Amino acid sequence: MQTLNDFRREIRDWLQDNCPAGARGPGQVPNGGHKVPIRDDDTRDWLHRCARKGYTVPMWPTSYGGAGLSMDQYLILLEEMRAINARSPLGGMGVGLIGPTLLEYGTDGQKARHLPRIASGEVRWCQGYSEPNAGSDLASLQTRAVADGDRYVINGQKIWTSGADHADWMFCLVRTDPNAPKHEGISLLLLDMDQPGVTVRPIQLISGASFFCETFFDDAVARRDDLVGEQGRGWTIGKRLLQHERSGITILAGGAAAREPEANPFQRLLAEYCPRGDMDLRRRAIDYDMRHRAYRLTQRRTVAESEDGQTPGPQTSIFELCAANLEKEEADVKSRIIGMSGLGWEGEGFSAMEIHIMREWLSVKRRSIARGSNEIQMNIIAKRVLGLPD
Ligand SMILES: Cc1cc2nc3c(=O)[nH]c(=O)nc-3n(C[C@H](O)[C@H](O)[C@H](O)COP(=O)(O)OP(=O)(O)OC[C@H]3O[C@@H](n4cnc5c(N)ncnc54)[C@H](O)[C@@H]3O)c2cc1C
Repeated sequence: MQTLNDFRREIRDWLQDNCPAGARGPGQVPNGGHKVPIRDDDTRDWLHRCARKGYTVPMWPTSYGGAGLSMDQYLILLEEMRAINARSPLGGMGVGLIGPTLLEYGTDGQKARHLPRIASGEVRWCQGYSEPNAGSDLASLQTRAVADGDRYVINGQKIWTSGADHADWMFCLVRTDPNAPKHEGISLLLLDMDQPGVTVRPIQLISGASFFCETFFDDAVARRDDLVGEQGRGWTIGKRLLQHERSGITILAGGAAAREPEANPFQRLLAEYCPRGDMDLRRRAIDYDMRHRAYRLTQRRTVAESEDGQTPGPQTSIFELCAANLEKEEADVKSRIIGMSGLGWEGEGFSAMEIHIMREWLSVKRRSIARGSNEIQMNIIAKRVLGLPD
């Protein structure tokens, strides 16, 4: 029988032979589908080699494109990937959100149709939850789906749909029973984005980037057998999906060797822009670094302590709150270190890095709103983790 040491040796050899130089260190992590090109051969080869081996979703069953690894084997794979600084071969909402949800709630048919195409990186997914009048109060959503023979007909609007313009499929919360109490009339549907009833309009962000959209449904259709769980039970399943999103852990479970905090991200900037030292900034930089390391270690410990790699429940809001604050802090410290050089939007006189830091500082404001605002995460922690009264 193969021991864990044998397995480690096997993984090490496989990585040595199969992880190209261009898939090590910072770079593109594909999110699936073909609408956003993979920029270089190494990233493409890495994705395809991992997909063939099941390492894009290492703990999923082999029948659905995974490698069927045990928890111990999976942790070894992560350690060995980290040791060579290998990037995650595949990210996005397929491996991170809807995949784990289908494993838990999907029918055999849904798993067979959707999971292998997620694992191979063939299909990119987006999340149709928020609406113009349903964000924090998501259960107020009004997009209507009516059963009609072997399909549902969908009308309404979603907003802030990240990556909708590049997605092939959407998992979508819809109202199937307008007369039921609001949490009970909701269902989770899977629908093909490439159909005449779906219109996507990108929204421009303050940073100049444009990665989310308004999505309109005019008699869009979903197959009846793409209803996940029972009709009217979408709220429970949709909330579970959010826990996968907020933990950031399924991203690890998707095979990610996330950026390692080996070196303090501010060191180089401090040396270049504050050679004489600024004690306050240095203190903030060190404080950030320690909290970021603690966050990563806690995430890893949570994976290691879970029996079968399952995402925890409402505690995931703690991860989300910490991650949002950390990302904003990182952008803020960087922009303060570079000072006046961080005021450039474009043009000569500012380096590409300075412009990037400036735009990132603007862009990262979104973090304490996306995936549920900080206030909503704190409400969940207070009520569902600490058990404080409503
Ligand atoms: C970058 C980004 C990406 C996103 N991607 C997606 C996506 O892919 N798919 C998708 O469906 N949605 C997406 N969203 C939408 C996101 O989930 C919502 O923006 C978020 O849930 C907040 O909803 P809202 O914008 O309607 O704000 P509102 O709910 O109107 O909130 C406004 C303010 O009121 C506060 N507030 C509201 N209710 C309470 C309360 N009960 N207690 C205390 N404070 C409260 C909020 O904290 C916030 O500060 C994305 C958002 C962002 C910023």
